[in-house]
Amino acid sequence: MSESDPGFVAALEEAKAGFAEGGVPIGACLVSRDGSILGRGHNMRIQKGSATLHAEISALENTGRLPANAYEGATMYTSLSPCEMCSGACILYKVKRVVVGENKTFVGGEEHLRRKGIEVVVLENEECKALMARFIAEKPNVW
Ligand SMILES: [Zn+2]
Repeated sequence: MSESDPGFVAALEEAKAGFAEGGVPIGACLVSRDGSILGRGHNMRIQKGSATLHAEISALENTGRLPANAYEGATMYTSLSPCEMCSGACILYKVKRVVVGENKTFVGGEEHLRRKGIEVVVLENEECKALMARFIAEKPNVW
């Protein structure tokens, strides 16, 4: 798992798209076991006034409804450590692995994921950290 994975590249692109829209710059991408991108999305809390459309939920939503076995062996890439809700969604759909861009800004449900047997990989990506730092500096009341 690395920063050159297409799934991570897509998640970072989504985070940047969210930033450009004035939103919370967190992106995610769901990749199947054979390496194809199933769906991608970014946090839409500000854009849609949504309480639940975090990046990972957006990616699952944009993927659409799939048969349960389509998630087997899948990897969820996300630019920031997934919160408890999004970790729960990954557990519910039984993804195999969660690849996290960074977990310095925020640590979510990583231990919960590990307890459920899901592999968690943290890339400590500098671009993800910089995006969040810039967003928090510009909009401290939103974060
Ligand atoms: Zn979340």
